[in-house]
Amino acid sequence: MLLLKKKTIKKLASLLLLIMTTGILTACNSKANQVTEDQGFAMGTVISQKVYGENGQAAIDETMKKIKDLEALLTFNAPEGDIYKLNKNAGATKVELNPETINVINKAQKVADLSNGAFDITVGPLIKLWGIGTEQERVPATEALNKLLQLINYKDLYVDEHSASLKMPGQMADLGGIAKGYAGDEAMKIYKKNGIKSGFINLGGNVVTLGSKPDGSPWTVGIRNPRPQDTTGEQPLVGTITVTDKAVVTSGDDQRFFIKDGKRYHHIIDPHTGYPAQSDLMSVTLVTNSSFDADALDTAVFVLGLEKGKALIGQYEGIEAVFITTDKKIYVTDGLKGSFTLLDENDQYKYIE
Ligand code: ADP
Ligand code: MG
Repeated sequence: MLLLKKKTIKKLASLLLLIMTTGILTACNSKANQVTEDQGFAMGTVISQKVYGENGQAAIDETMKKIKDLEALLTFNAPEGDIYKLNKNAGATKVELNPETINVINKAQKVADLSNGAFDITVGPLIKLWGIGTEQERVPATEALNKLLQLINYKDLYVDEHSASLKMPGQMADLGGIAKGYAGDEAMKIYKKNGIKSGFINLGGNVVTLGSKPDGSPWTVGIRNPRPQDTTGEQPLVGTITVTDKAVVTSGDDQRFFIKDGKRYHHIIDPHTGYPAQSDLMSVTLVTNSSFDADALDTAVFVLGLEKGKALIGQYEGIEAVFITTDKKIYVTDGLKGSFTLLDENDQYKYIE
């Protein structure tokens, strides 16, 4: 896990407000509607859960344990984890990996291919160099950055059924753009196994909902305003969408960043330039059945920009999106138009019908 700055942690905590549980819960006394809530910290972010049903606490505890196990397996600086081992043996040997790690790497490689390397989990050395969101964040020297660029290439990450290897010493895989998405789908499996029919998990802004709210109405999930005018309080919403049984996953330049000489440096790196991606997007929110798909794709779409990003998600069935562009326009795909509500109090944005 990265060592996060206090400011970042505060910001992550404010993400908890993303789910707005509108409508007053009635009849909490029946066991089926019993509500259990919990908050914890894992995978570098705040995790909050809310489930309805008899086995709520068991479902929440099992989910938290699963997420901690995944963190130990998949985070690049978790010693003796799979990714740690893979990176440590870069340029040397292939390493045996847990089937779950292989599954996550395979998904990442697929999205890397489809996005022409806009999504590339071998960005690890660049993520370390920039250190965005950590005490070490800085604009690196061009020379150091260019040297590392040679190490960034997902095609140098070989994976077979049980093992994987990196071609060159110094290469590093980083699953930060996809691991939370995988964890979100695993949470839903655990909820279902425990008989939960209604609930949600929020992994630092990756929201995954199960079913509808107990009263049968859909969940309302907020979309952050990526350029809040008042930066002192909790980050305001620019809109909401209503969903049932969907993952709502956002990538944006507003979560981990610093400003230097008036320029914003954020945590999503364009693997081809080595610099924070400068597409025409400030954020993209994907709504799908799988948070695993959504997480890999949202990072890719953010790097690719509006047009190429749309083309990428068009290759998948049933993905809807909300795009917020740097020129402050909001585009919503057709399937979401009925469930999107604009909350743009200061008239900052233009909603494109
Ligand atoms: P968040 O983690 O804020 O929800 P993302 O899903 O977009 O947002 O993931 C960002 C993380 O993905 C970064 O912190 C970094 O670990 C990793 N990353 C950054 N750029 C890329 C990229 N081009 N391809 C793959 N992973 C990336
Ligand atoms: Mg992502």
